[in-house]
Amino acid sequence: MERFDLVVIGDGAAGDCAVRPAGECLNYGCVPSKTLYQSAEVYHQMRRAGEFGVRASGVELDFPGVIARAQYVIETIRGDNPWGGVRADGITAFRSTATFLGPKQLQADGETVEADQIIISTGTKAGIPPVPGLAEAALLTNESIFKLGLLPGRLAVIGAGPIGAEMAQIFQRFGSQVMLLEMLPQVVPTEDEEISNALERILLGEGVHVYTAVRINEVRRNEDGSRTLQVTYGGHDLPITVDEVLVAAGRRPPISTSTPPAWRRHVAGSRWMSTSARRSRTSGRRGM
Ligand SMILES: Cc1cc2nc3c(=O)[nH]c(=O)nc-3n(C[C@H](O)[C@H](O)[C@H](O)COP(=O)(O)OP(=O)(O)OC[C@H]3O[C@@H](n4cnc5c(N)ncnc54)[C@H](O)[C@@H]3O)c2cc1C
Repeated sequence: MERFDLVVIGDGAAGDCAVRPAGECLNYGCVPSKTLYQSAEVYHQMRRAGEFGVRASGVELDFPGVIARAQYVIETIRGDNPWGGVRADGITAFRSTATFLGPKQLQADGETVEADQIIISTGTKAGIPPVPGLAEAALLTNESIFKLGLLPGRLAVIGAGPIGAEMAQIFQRFGSQVMLLEMLPQVVPTEDEEISNALERILLGEGVHVYTAVRINEVRRNEDGSRTLQVTYGGHDLPITVDEVLVAAGRRPPISTSTPPAWRRHVAGSRWMSTSARRSRTSGRRGM
């Protein structure tokens, strides 16, 4: 058994604060979303070039080129030997899932590891709302949208938080017809009403169909591969048919089916990020 002063579970942004970018931010989050945003911004501005007295003809979007650039940026940041720096710093890296055997003991890479202190930085995954048919409708999440092969003609985005609102604007600028669906009465609901209203005006102005206070009752995959969302909006039941559905309706802990039910929501963390096990800490108030 190997003994360490500190074990950090998870190599994402939070884990790096304790040891070195990886995880969601690099692979499925900040980095690819910002590269897509930049491509959308360049395309958007080039199509408006005439307004600025600039002649730009034949401007076309090369969607596979956009996706390839995002993957190139990820690979460039990751580098040829992502674990080299860690090892050079004297850190032992285990490239495997860590499982708790006891409060201070873990299993990783087939080895048993014991540590004085453990930091749980295992991040989050997209949460799938319990809408009948949604999980079976072959939906997109932040783990698949940055690898899309084809630009969807019609895209439904479920959830108008920061991720959903950003993706809605990006894909509308690329040329998809985007329907942004939010169950609460405003977009980016955690922001002030003034900010939400301003953002909603911008999205509507760019052509996004925004549905707030909407209820999604059911999602169905059609024979031609399209999906139909049955929604209740403004007191009416109506179908919305799209080519792809992106779910951006909040984040959940990356639990597995073997996780005891009582632990599935989150690792209980205090305001000091400690957990019920002495010497284990989370990288958030509610470690996920
Ligand atoms: C589309 C999108 C855009 C975003 N844009 C921004 C932005 O512009 N700015 C911003 O600040 N934030 C942004 N975020 C949020 C940002 O990505 C997260 O806040 C950040 O990645 C959280 O870091 P973390 O280390 O807590 O978790 P993660 O980055 O998820 O890292 C956790 C790591 O732990 C690993 N892991 C899980 N379980 C185990 C286990 N049992 N054993 C070993 N390893 C395990 C996972 O594989 C993962 O590599 C965005 C997120 C998304 C989805």
